[in-house]
Amino acid sequence: MAEKIIMLGDARSPSPAIPAILEAPTGLLGDALGRPLHDLRISVTDRCNFRCVYCMPKEVFDKDYAYLPHTALLSFEEITRIARLFVAHGVEKIRLTGGEPLLRKNLEKLVGMLSALRTPSGAALDLTLTTNGSLLAKKAQSLKDAGLNRVTVSLDALDDATFKRMNDVDFAVGDVLEGIAAAHRAGLGPIKINMVVKAGMNDQEILPMARHFKGGPAILRFIEYMDVGASNGWNLAEVIPSAEVVRRIAAEMPLDPVGANYAGETAARWRYADGSGEIGLISSVTQAFCKDCSRARLSTEGKLYTCLFATRGHDLRALLRDGRSDAEISNAVAQLWRVRADRYSETRTINTSGIERGDKKVEMSYIGG
Ligand code: SAM
Ligand code: SF4
Ligand code: SF4
Repeated sequence: MAEKIIMLGDARSPSPAIPAILEAPTGLLGDALGRPLHDLRISVTDRCNFRCVYCMPKEVFDKDYAYLPHTALLSFEEITRIARLFVAHGVEKIRLTGGEPLLRKNLEKLVGMLSALRTPSGAALDLTLTTNGSLLAKKAQSLKDAGLNRVTVSLDALDDATFKRMNDVDFAVGDVLEGIAAAHRAGLGPIKINMVVKAGMNDQEILPMARHFKGGPAILRFIEYMDVGASNGWNLAEVIPSAEVVRRIAAEMPLDPVGANYAGETAARWRYADGSGEIGLISSVTQAFCKDCSRARLSTEGKLYTCLFATRGHDLRALLRDGRSDAEISNAVAQLWRVRADRYSETRTINTSGIERGDKKVEMSYIGG
């Protein structure tokens, strides 16, 4: 596996070209399909203490797996510098992810540095983090104090045996629920709960999860199992379409559709007819949302990916460590975004056959979800 990461990092991640004429950022960057650059997801580690079967299966991510060495990781200063350049291009929302982001030492320090950034109009960023919740009970308050606005917690089942089968490291549901409660007490809301639904594995947990979070402060979101990376052995038959999730829940707890909060919102929203809150459905398999996708992803070692399903990144770390100026890096990013035409989920069948020819997609744990 070590070879795979090195290959992705080197052969498939060229250093971006610097344009000959350098322009000041306008905050209004658009890609080839007219999509703005609004969101930046930053992976702060490729390591995780879980081995979710759909993300980091044990057979692949075993004790011999070669994770990135510490020197390969972007430092907090490097991350913040890149983030600042992206904010000048229009990014208003930053999500920290991984791997498990709370495994990165002193993450609160990075949160503090990012929370000090301001958009061109002087507004604070929407700063959030996706976590498996295992360390959240311990860290929620310090993250809030450092300036984090909110968290998304992944939880795939309420039943311990099912959850343990999914995380594959014997981690108990109760500990994640404690983390969620701590995040709530610390004011890291609105909290979102992500449940990846894999047919035959945890789909029997759809209703118990809906019942549990209905009426509470957290918003439960069901995610269609995706063909990210090259390790999870994805099979379309294991996807439960969001329409089926809605059908099962609505049969017991009636639901009405709600309009999106903003263009580019990944989750379709449904509200309980009795007024006790809402759920979200993230349907990247059955209902692609590429046309409004405004997300860029920065890998743990500083490669920029313009799509979750990309097979190559762009090595921003090389520019940082080559001593390039802010203006040069900013213009290189702008040039990459302007030609972006990714819409993998809308063209899944074609791409999947491309993958079969040998173009390996990057792992979710490497660029973050
Ligand atoms: N470790 C953190 C966590 O689990 O929340 C952050 C990183 S994880 C890669 C981000 C999100 O991606 C999680 O909500 C996870 O459930 C989701 N995810 C991972 N693999 C997936 C897959 N194959 N299909 C759909 N969602 C997936
Ligand atoms: Fe780790 Fe998150 Fe992937 Fe699960 S989904 S293995 S918790 S990175
Ligand atoms: Fe965005 Fe790529 Fe996902 Fe489409 S497939 S929504 S372009 S990340």
